[in-house]
Amino acid sequence: MTTPSVPDQQLQVAGLIPTAQRRAVLALLLGRSRPITAQAVHAELNRTDRHIGLTTVYRALHSLADAGLLHTFELHGQRAYRHCGVAPHQHLICDGCDAVLECPPDLVATWLRELHHHTGFIPHADRLDLRGTCATCATT
Ligand SMILES: [Zn+2]
Ligand SMILES: [Zn+2]
Repeated sequence: MTTPSVPDQQLQVAGLIPTAQRRAVLALLLGRSRPITAQAVHAELNRTDRHIGLTTVYRALHSLADAGLLHTFELHGQRAYRHCGVAPHQHLICDGCDAVLECPPDLVATWLRELHHHTGFIPHADRLDLRGTCATCATT
């Protein structure tokens, strides 16, 4: 018995049937820090020998995002997808290079408590996107 590949494992855990399209799309997104649009996924997949239609790419991205394997972002006015870890996290989004960093929730928990204390506002802490400049961009 062979060990299932990382995309296969993740699809399995998420309860998705590992179709060739879902595997290809997920494999392309694994390990990328920048979100990528459906058009870009389509272009990259078709640069190799895979011929997958844009509609199929959209469908695969939607099912992966619905299953929680991908998070969606707004990238220059377009919807973009990023493979995120399963551990709860907030997003730190760089305006310079579009990289998204996963931030442990406890780093912002104190700030959110203070925010609530001072404003009475109850933030939904399950997803927080902070825009700014990443460490790499800040030093160049
Ligand atoms: Zn995420
Ligand atoms: Zn950056």
